Amino acid sequence: MGAPTPAGPVEYCDAVVVGSGFGGSVAAFRLAEAGRSTIVLERGQAYPPGSFARNPYEMSRAFWEPKDDLYGLFDVRSFRKIEAIVSSGLGGGSLIYANVLLRKDERWFVHDSPLPGGGYEHWAISRDDLEPHYDAVATMLTPQPSPYPDLPKSRALHEAAGKLGLESFAPPLAVTFAPPGGEPAPKQVIPEPPYGNIHGLARLTCRLCGECDIGCNEGSKNTMDHTYLSAAKHLGADIRTLAEVTAMAPLDGGGYEVTYTQYGSDPVDEGRRSRSSRRIRCSNLLLGAGSLGTTSLLLRNRVSFPGLGRALGTRFSGNGDLLAFAMGARAQDGSGRLIDGSYGPVITTAIRVPDGADNGGSGRGYYIQEAGFPEFANWLIEVTRVSTSLRRSTSTAWELLKHRFGSRFESTISAEVARVIGDGMMGSSALPLLGMGRDVPDGKITLRDGELDIDWTSATSMAYFSSMRDTMRAISDALLATFHDSPLWWTKRVITVHPLGGAPMGRHVHEGVTDTFGESFGHPGLYVVDGAVMPGPVGPNPALTIAALADRGVEHLLSQPKAKRPAPNAGAEPSPTSSAVPEPLIEGDGVRFTEQMKGFLALGEVDPVTGWQRARQLGHRFMFELTITVPDVERFVDAGDHPGMAEGYVRCELLGGRLPVEHGWFNLFVPSAEQGTREMRYRLWIRDLSGAPVTMSGYKMVRDDAGLDVWRDTSTLYITLAKGHVPPGDDGEVIGAGVLRILPFDFAKQLTTFKASGEGKLGSLASFGRFFMRSLRDIYLTPSTPASRGGQDD
Ligand SMILES: Cc1cc2nc3c(=O)[nH]c(=O)nc-3n(C[C@H](O)[C@H](O)[C@H](O)COP(=O)(O)OP(=O)(O)OC[C@H]3O[C@@H](n4cnc5c(N)ncnc54)[C@H](O)[C@@H]3O)c2cc1C
Repeated sequence: MGAPTPAGPVEYCDAVVVGSGFGGSVAAFRLAEAGRSTIVLERGQAYPPGSFARNPYEMSRAFWEPKDDLYGLFDVRSFRKIEAIVSSGLGGGSLIYANVLLRKDERWFVHDSPLPGGGYEHWAISRDDLEPHYDAVATMLTPQPSPYPDLPKSRALHEAAGKLGLESFAPPLAVTFAPPGGEPAPKQVIPEPPYGNIHGLARLTCRLCGECDIGCNEGSKNTMDHTYLSAAKHLGADIRTLAEVTAMAPLDGGGYEVTYTQYGSDPVDEGRRSRSSRRIRCSNLLLGAGSLGTTSLLLRNRVSFPGLGRALGTRFSGNGDLLAFAMGARAQDGSGRLIDGSYGPVITTAIRVPDGADNGGSGRGYYIQEAGFPEFANWLIEVTRVSTSLRRSTSTAWELLKHRFGSRFESTISAEVARVIGDGMMGSSALPLLGMGRDVPDGKITLRDGELDIDWTSATSMAYFSSMRDTMRAISDALLATFHDSPLWWTKRVITVHPLGGAPMGRHVHEGVTDTFGESFGHPGLYVVDGAVMPGPVGPNPALTIAALADRGVEHLLSQPKAKRPAPNAGAEPSPTSSAVPEPLIEGDGVRFTEQMKGFLALGEVDPVTGWQRARQLGHRFMFELTITVPDVERFVDAGDHPGMAEGYVRCELLGGRLPVEHGWFNLFVPSAEQGTREMRYRLWIRDLSGAPVTMSGYKMVRDDAGLDVWRDTSTLYITLAKGHVPPGDDGEVIGAGVLRILPFDFAKQLTTFKASGEGKLGSLASFGRFFMRSLRDIYLTPSTPASRGGQDD
């Protein structure tokens, strides 16, 4: 989505926090508590109790896709081999999560654990490092096991685990079941904490309706909006919703500038939202936009952050998520067994299967939990049994007709209606099973044509998934139920609700994007405080670990000397001056042709050949297609720098895909400082996806070395990428380098694109050709003389 041009004055604060999920909320609270002026930018809306969608109309609007005017809660993504569901709203994933807060198993902080495709999973922190932060988060979110151990679904899972000799337990849930000091009871008023409530509305205790994953309309879940964000606001944090960050850049002298789109209400069209672009400058920038959101922001703004390591985009994992179903559970006597998946909080029970790193385990460990569902899902499940429902409806309609027209009158038809509904056991005897654990974190997040893309496959984790499916099947058997894979698994795809990684921590810049505190290696003061920072799967549900890491990261930030606020105008990108924009040439008899060059470019390199070598290994391609126009050949030949104009596009996934050239310069056979050498020069002004200006400069060195090198010289372009729109004659701050080549086939195509314009079309083509050949002759066939090096002799 292209951001509108920033309007209005720039604001200043100590810290900007992007996103208000587990990481962002903890960070906002800790910063506000320390007296730092803090602005939280959350793209989604606030959801006070009672505002979550329930009816079909509301549900149809409950998705996040601003380009289609959808600003709702669920952000559903589909990639090649994996689907993901994340949330968009004040409180982030806590709004739709299942409340389970588990700590990462001590032995699952693995070290130098080899990955099948090369590389290592390495946790450079330990459980001990996180323990005080786990405690701090638990104090705020007050998790506790479900106080209803006798729910049918809880009993069923414990019982199945017992039969299989597996460890099962009731995991801590961040839900309020009882008023303070009272017994658990539904719909009791929860007293307001001293820091108040950000929504200003009363909350009620859990009514066991199984709706945790679609937003709790009672406010019983201790979500981030009711806890950390309410406290942060109380302490002075400025919390903004419908504020989507689109661009960010470091400032000269320290600090960062953040650009965001504020969605407002459209005064003309109620169904639409207005958009305005705003800017904030801050000393610290904390990214808490979630694994997908933060990685996407860093990739889109990569050009502005040349210090980010090669690990950006790596270590993606779905935390081993796998969904399956035990359908039609039966009691020992063969009758249907009531599981009642929609009665109770969504998750109440967990089974833990140990890992090879644990004593007595093998392979990669995992957890299996029941996944409850809202009451209305039972209806959906029943309705999906279309054939059975139809049969039941037809026979009931026949009975009703008999009543109406038969001899015996009867006004009570309840039994007939009940028959249409059937025994309702399809939904009530079903138990969805959600598995998660230590899959292989070898996924890679990139941008493809400007869209987020994830290269991940279940293949490298197949041993893990097979073991988990075997256990799920055994659980299903123990419940005398029928095991069903999720239909996605038929094509070996999974759906994750726990996307992790993308900006992982590491021991050094070659291993991670950040250090173990979440601070970026190359950009001091820039922190990643969300699931993106994980170097691998957490294993159990990850929210508590994300929150604890954020707590640890901000504690580290606060222990450092406080950075000065950025000064006004610090490092503002120079906007292109009119003198830097190429002068329009007077139209005369002109020539134009189209040229395509392809190659590789690496960020963080300044030497083209080194950059090309590294980029080739990494697969970082770069190409352009340019139409070069020489509007007046006569003037072109006479001018010392033989200038033309370049229009077209660049394609580079590192910069966000296909990017139009805003201004382009081309110079043919410009005498170089080196004797007997001329250069063909290219300079292109483009913008990366975030709108940050960058300049590609390139030269072909045409000189007579030993051997016949005319083809290599004229087909090899050495390029550099610089920050900003750098005018001709200036190198700018180089942030990347590489080499492009024209392939013989593309060159043959190029020859067919030569076109002339003006009165003397043929003449201009001929003059251009003559100039070209004469220049080559001068370079390759004429001994170097001062005359042959000059431009005016042409
Ligand atoms: C159905 C479901 C059930 C789950 N159950 C559990 C559970 O029981 N236990 C558990 O531990 N985990 C659970 N999870 C996972 C948990 O919700 C996530 O792991 C967690 O929310 C991730 O936290 P985060 O801070 O990384 O990001 P998020 O919580 O995803 O927060 C990111 C926030 O950033 C915002 N954002 C994104 N981009 C931008 C931008 N450009 N500008 C401004 N804001 C932006 C988003 O709108 C979002 O609010 C569940 C998830 C789902 C979907």
